Amino acid sequence: MPYLMIGIDDTDWEGGGCTTYVMYLFVKYLIKDGLTNNIVGLPRLTRLNPYVPFKTRGNASLSIIIRIESESDAVNYVELMYSLIDQMVKRVGKTSPGIAYMVVNDLLNINERLIWFYRKSVRDVVTLDLAHRVADKVNARLVGGRGVIGALASLGFVPVDATYEFIAYRPEDEERPAIDINDVKAWDEATRPFTFLNLYNDQVLIEPHGPDPVLFGIRGDSPHHVLTMGNYLANKYNAIGWIIYLTNQGTEEHRSHVGEFIPYRNADITGVITNVAFDDKGHALITLDNGRKALAYRHLGISRELMNCDGCLAQVWGGVKPNGDLSLYVEGIRVLHDRYVEVRNPRCPMCGGPMESMGRSGLLRCKRCGFQGKLPRIITPRNRWFLANPRASEYRHLMKPSERVGLEGLALYMPKPFLWVY
Ligand SMILES: [Zn+2]
Repeated sequence: MPYLMIGIDDTDWEGGGCTTYVMYLFVKYLIKDGLTNNIVGLPRLTRLNPYVPFKTRGNASLSIIIRIESESDAVNYVELMYSLIDQMVKRVGKTSPGIAYMVVNDLLNINERLIWFYRKSVRDVVTLDLAHRVADKVNARLVGGRGVIGALASLGFVPVDATYEFIAYRPEDEERPAIDINDVKAWDEATRPFTFLNLYNDQVLIEPHGPDPVLFGIRGDSPHHVLTMGNYLANKYNAIGWIIYLTNQGTEEHRSHVGEFIPYRNADITGVITNVAFDDKGHALITLDNGRKALAYRHLGISRELMNCDGCLAQVWGGVKPNGDLSLYVEGIRVLHDRYVEVRNPRCPMCGGPMESMGRSGLLRCKRCGFQGKLPRIITPRNRWFLANPRASEYRHLMKPSERVGLEGLALYMPKPFLWVY
């Protein structure tokens, strides 16, 4: 039986809208027509390269897979999606929505070229021209403007790691209610580590601040945990509806893990820190022995960790800024080797008193009893090997929160919840 894969992107504009909301409404139409059972898995929310210069607000694209009777069925679904976008989207500014779709017979054998295109869209800058060439090769159809790039990329999302997001929507004509921190704290404790980035100290992180129709989003590795927490809050704060998406958020899919500095891409460098300079704003400029420079902004909360790090062997990663010397915008730092050692004199072997050196002879003399001898110094390595991540409030969609370490891939073994959209 054939399947229709359909993706959308770039349906949000300066003053509102949200691509996830268009997909939500699409799914609601399928429910009304009793077609929910034809939806394979969960709809997918794919975040693309956060460093591309021209992007929509959240840089999100979406896709869904639907079981169909015949290829002609596909046309109806695509037309429904098209008319939804037409009704919903205000074409202002650089908003340029797009749809990508294709019919496949085997979901287990997605064309490698399409998967490659998805990966490239998450890590690199891709052109409209490339999207058209890939679409031709994999028999996908593109309809609309620049949004077809993200729409096509989302079709190639074949996850090796994934997370979920429960997204609740609010009535358009109402102010977004402030969510009580105590609600979030209680549910955060009850669902950890299967939900993440709910709060940072006394700051609620599940509520967006933009003009979009999102009321809140609960991210996590288990659809059942995001469902329980999300459903409670959706009821309490008057959501008009909600949906659970399978996403690439928090998976670090945007990291290239290569040392090459290419503008707008993510890079990894390893080297010895030769200098850390703080400017008057508290941002830290790190210089490595290979001449590479990396900038850790104060608000990321990383710079404090960098005091006394000279000489440490460190791995630094982040986005490459397209300025002259191509410095790195730091997302994270891992100290691999701490070269710093503390050297102390031993205590006197006769009386236990403190010992002092006697100049260049290498001899030590006890300050209390006068004993003199050649004794080895005590060398204590500091061994401060650490991983520094930005504070939770500064996370971008694709960065992996440290509480997710060890849970990678778990999401793919989770059964689809019976209730996943309302
Ligand atoms: Zn002594």
